[in-house]
Amino acid sequence: MFRSRSWLIKNYAELGKTSTELGKEQNVSHKTILYWLEKYNIPRRHPAHKENKGENNYFWSGDNVSYAGLHHWLEVNKPKTGICDICNKYKKTTYANISGEYRRDINDFGELCYSCHCLFDKLNQTHKKQLEGKQ
Ligand SMILES: [Zn+2]
Repeated sequence: MFRSRSWLIKNYAELGKTSTELGKEQNVSHKTILYWLEKYNIPRRHPAHKENKGENNYFWSGDNVSYAGLHHWLEVNKPKTGICDICNKYKKTTYANISGEYRRDINDFGELCYSCHCLFDKLNQTHKKQLEGKQ
């Protein structure tokens, strides 16, 4: 069962069960569950958000990720550090999509301060290279 993507989404993402709980149910290690979550590109929950499990439901209403759902997912999976990826200053930051495709991939998002975000939008290609060079 744990090899089924829809089963994992239903139990992990919708019902909010933990990988440990699912592992016990299926008689496997929680690492096995995590392995399959990763394989299917199912975002891992931040442990601190476990009690908010109901809130994540709207995110799974289909393959199209709404902007609000994506933003929430980013906050859970890529918590802000408060440090801009471009100027490395500690400022108020926002998420910036690097590829412009809004893929459900945390590596496709950077954290930029307001001024760098404006520059980033204007000089998208240049800053894209800078970000990629840093990783
Ligand atoms: Zn900046």
